[in-house]
Amino acid sequence: MLQKSRITSEVDFEQDGKHQGSLRLPHSVHRSAYGWIAIPIVVIKNGRGPNVLLTAGNHGDEYEGQLALMKLCQQLKPADVRGRIIMLTAANFPAAIAGLRTSPIDDLNLNRSFPGDPDGRPTAAIAHYIESELLPISDFLVDLHSGGSSLMYLPSALTRQVNDNRLAAKQLEMLKAFAAPISYCAAASHEDRTLLAAAERAEVAAIGTELGGSGTTSVHSLAVAEFGVRRVLKYLGSVPESDVGEDPTPTRVMEVSSSAYYVYAPDYGVWEPLADLGDDVKAGQPAAAVYCPQTPWREPVEAHFEHDGKIICRRVPGPVERGDCLFHLATDWSE
Ligand code: ZN
Repeated sequence: MLQKSRITSEVDFEQDGKHQGSLRLPHSVHRSAYGWIAIPIVVIKNGRGPNVLLTAGNHGDEYEGQLALMKLCQQLKPADVRGRIIMLTAANFPAAIAGLRTSPIDDLNLNRSFPGDPDGRPTAAIAHYIESELLPISDFLVDLHSGGSSLMYLPSALTRQVNDNRLAAKQLEMLKAFAAPISYCAAASHEDRTLLAAAERAEVAAIGTELGGSGTTSVHSLAVAEFGVRRVLKYLGSVPESDVGEDPTPTRVMEVSSSAYYVYAPDYGVWEPLADLGDDVKAGQPAAAVYCPQTPWREPVEAHFEHDGKIICRRVPGPVERGDCLFHLATDWSE
C-alpha cells in the first residue's frame, strides 16, 4: 500500500473543463520557509472517454516534448476532448528550469526514482506522486524524452518489453499510431525505476520517445513530437477530430535487444567518431578512436561495434571518460 503524497494539486481532476495550475510540492528552505515548488499541470476533461497522461520534462534538458505539450495545452479546448487528458509539461520542474537532466536540488534523476518516496527529496516525491496519484487514474501514458545534452537520436518512439501480452499489443498499436520514423522495443531489463516501469506496474499502456537531443530541438524533431502525440490521441479516441497532418510513412519497427547494441568509450580523452548517426554497421567495425589530450603522441584507443545494426543514437560532446555511451544500435524487429 503506497503512502499518501504530500503534494497537493491546485487543479481538479474530476470536473469537466480545462484546469491549469500547479502541483504544490512542499519545500521548506532558507529563502522560503513555508514555500512549495510549483510543478505545472493542465487537465482537460470532457465527459466519458480514455484517461490519458502525457509527460515531458522527466529529464529537464529534453525540449521536444516540453514544447509539444506547452503548445498542445494551449491549443486543445475541452470540446475537442473525450475523457480526460492530464499534461505534465515539466515533470521534474526544478530540472527543467535549470535545463539539466537531473534536479539541481537533489541531483536525482526522475526516471531512476520510481516508485519514489513521499517523504524523500523533491525528485523522489514527484516520482511517488506520479506513481501513486496520476497513474492509477490513467489508462494510457506517453512519456516524451529525447537524447538530452549528451546524446542525439534519430527521432524514435519506444516501448518497454512487458509480460502482459494484451498490454504489449496495445503499446505496439500506440507506437504505430505515433509513427515516429523509428520505433523500437527495448530489451527486457531489470531497470524498474523508470516511468515506463511504473506504468507497467499500474497496467497502463505506455510508450516513450527519444525524439532528437543535443539539448535543443529542430523543425523536424518537433513536428515528429507534435503530430505523434496528436496521432496517438486520435487513435485512442481522446481527441477524435485532431488535425494530424498528412498520412505519415509507417514507422520502422526495430529492437534494441542486448548490451551488445551499445558502444562505450574505452578510455578518457577526446573521441573521434568513425561512423555517423543513421549508418548501417557490422560487428567488428571500428566505432571510435579516443585520443588522449595529455599524451597526443600516443596511439588512440579504438572501440568497435559488437553487433550489426543501424546507429540510432550517438554521443554529442567530444570529451569522454571511460564508460560514456558513444553509440547505440537497433535492428529490425524479429518478433
Ligand atoms: Zn530522457
